[in-house]
Amino acid sequence: MTFEIKPYPEFSWSISRQRKLDQCPRAYFYQYYLGWNGWLDDAPTETRVAYRLGKLTSLDALLGQQVDVRAREVEAGARTGAALPSAEDLEFRTRAALRQAWTRSINGRVAFEQRPSKVTMLRSLYMDQDTQPETDRLNQKAGPSMQGLLATSHWGRLRACGDAGHVEVPDFAGFPHDGIKVFAAPDLAYVHEGVLHVTDWKTGREDETQPVQVLLQMWWALETYPELARAAAEGSLEIRGSLEYVVAGKTQPVEPPESAISPDCGATSATLDDFRDACSGTVSAGVAQMRALLADPEQNIPLEMAAFERRESGLCRMCDFAPVCRQG
Ligand code: SF4
Repeated sequence: MTFEIKPYPEFSWSISRQRKLDQCPRAYFYQYYLGWNGWLDDAPTETRVAYRLGKLTSLDALLGQQVDVRAREVEAGARTGAALPSAEDLEFRTRAALRQAWTRSINGRVAFEQRPSKVTMLRSLYMDQDTQPETDRLNQKAGPSMQGLLATSHWGRLRACGDAGHVEVPDFAGFPHDGIKVFAAPDLAYVHEGVLHVTDWKTGREDETQPVQVLLQMWWALETYPELARAAAEGSLEIRGSLEYVVAGKTQPVEPPESAISPDCGATSATLDDFRDACSGTVSAGVAQMRALLADPEQNIPLEMAAFERRESGLCRMCDFAPVCRQG
């Protein structure tokens, strides 16, 4: 099998990409363009460095990943009818995984620099920053996040579902829209008693883009599974989104768009067209903003780095790309 090296990445849109651009265009450039092909041994140094920095992580991010892993374990157990694990058990496993990541970061500097995608590396350790704030935050959040996860309303419904109602969410869940790949993977999706539940776990602060993120995930489900889109169009499938702020133990429902179909016509639930109407403007506006920074939109070739504004803010303290940004 031949392995093709593409000089530029494929263009796509996601809300996380949009957030990165809105926070700082220069960080967006490093993440999505400069680091491309940085895994190749003969790539230019600046490309390899940008790629490597883009692989740094934090305890906050790792806790988010662990919540996702624990949720999948709890889902699998609930579907078999097993009793829920205790919060202490979940916390124990989470802390064990995070300790392992910590140890790997301390011992893995050389391995990380050789193969950044294979070794977990914490930004704070890699950049010799004060790790205390991060570890304090983790210690405050680890226990409550597991309690909050177990307290959500999903497990009883999944126990009732058994093997039914699976909505598989692949790692890079996306769908084509207007010739663009849109990525929008929910953390959990399933159907129970005529309701499609679409959920995202959150371990950080609330922000105004998160409800839109869940709307996009509901849209993904209907674009990906025609049988769900058909049921929604017939009015036999209700769609409910939620943001689960597990540390705070709070659920925020996310309402689907109002159906354009009158209740008099029979269908009252939001349809695929309703989601397209509600969400495509967000995607189109973001795509236009991103394309304005391209020299060649066909091949996704970016403008010169100077066109990507350095938007300095309080976030610079936690920016993975600070070492390259400081050099101009
Ligand atoms: S250090 Fe600040 S200005 Fe530089 S890329 Fe990061 S967020 Fe942007």
